[in-house]
Amino acid sequence: MADNIFAKIIAKQIPAQIVFEDDRALAFRDINPQAPVHILVLPKKAIANVGAAVTGDEALLGHLLTVAAQIARNEGIDSTGYRLVVNKGRDAGESVPHLHVHLLGGRSLNWPPG
Ligand code: 5GP
Repeated sequence: MADNIFAKIIAKQIPAQIVFEDDRALAFRDINPQAPVHILVLPKKAIANVGAAVTGDEALLGHLLTVAAQIARNEGIDSTGYRLVVNKGRDAGESVPHLHVHLLGGRSLNWPPG
């Protein structure tokens, strides 16, 4: 198991406000929310970032998006809208080396992002 904060959350070594879990994915509330709804959707598989995904990961990557969409419905933001964000590398501000999809909603979001 990789030694980063999300790997420890997946392993239940440290707590998180989990909103969804199945055999392939885990979703929990961001500790520093940037919107009324800010949830991180992760594969349980240790993929460092989207650039580290390989052939064979396609279904898993798609699963993360359908899980995010289901969580958005559960959170009541499907009709108002939401944004899914995947940060990769320094210029995007990626800070945890375990692939994660940000689900942001519950307020109007600016475009383009900063
Ligand atoms: P990144 O900048 O890598 O795209 O996003 C990492 C996100 O993880 C940030 O929004 C940050 O607030 C969140 N985060 C970092 N550490 C923790 C933690 O220990 N628990 C939770 N729930 N979120 C965290």
